[in-house]
Amino acid sequence: MGELVTMLREAWLDALAVVAPTECSGCGAPDRALCVSCRADLAPVPTPVDLSGVPVWAALDYGSVPRSVLLAFKDGGRTDAAPVLAGALRAAIASALRDGRACGGEPGIRIATIPSTRAAFRRRGYHPVELLLARSGLRSERVLRPIRRAADQASLGAAERALNRAGSLRCMPRAAGRTYLLVDDILTTGSTLREAARALRRAGASVAGAAVVARTERRDGLNGWDQVPAGFTGDL
Ligand SMILES: [Zn+2]
Repeated sequence: MGELVTMLREAWLDALAVVAPTECSGCGAPDRALCVSCRADLAPVPTPVDLSGVPVWAALDYGSVPRSVLLAFKDGGRTDAAPVLAGALRAAIASALRDGRACGGEPGIRIATIPSTRAAFRRRGYHPVELLLARSGLRSERVLRPIRRAADQASLGAAERALNRAGSLRCMPRAAGRTYLLVDDILTTGSTLREAARALRRAGASVAGAAVVARTERRDGLNGWDQVPAGFTGDL
């Protein structure tokens, strides 16, 4: 019996060695889930972003550490970063709800997220933004649905992204008459949030604004966010 327990314990420790992080997902420092310095780089500074038609609050600039941590969280299985990223997202949501433009005085604002493609959900086994919301004790209403698979966004410029996104979401009829705050992880060109707002409004819902974990740097020209950050998969 004792032997069996030892064997099981060893098997468990072997399994842990596979899944337990051995380096910081922000800078690669050994033996830390997320080092102190990278944690500091993820301290939220909610900032309003002027995306036409949708007031957005972003918790972080998409600099080197937020980028590494978000990509590792989304596509590298590094869910250990969820508590820190959830804290950043919570700060952006709180700012969006305090923002007069976002609130508009309506009571009972609900949260809507962008649906994952089926392939992305299968690959990850979780929806990154839903996971962060759950960590924050918040829930979204899954009123948005993909209509067709949008082409890979990563190689596209802002105008192409907008075209690629247009008409890619539909909204459930039950959203009519309700007010939503859109919540997403990374604001790149804004085409995804614009499309989500369009779908919600078309279904008769109001859009109070949006909150995101991080935003990429704004470039002048076009409609704002036309920079595709290195390593960004564009996958939802
Ligand atoms: Zn680090």
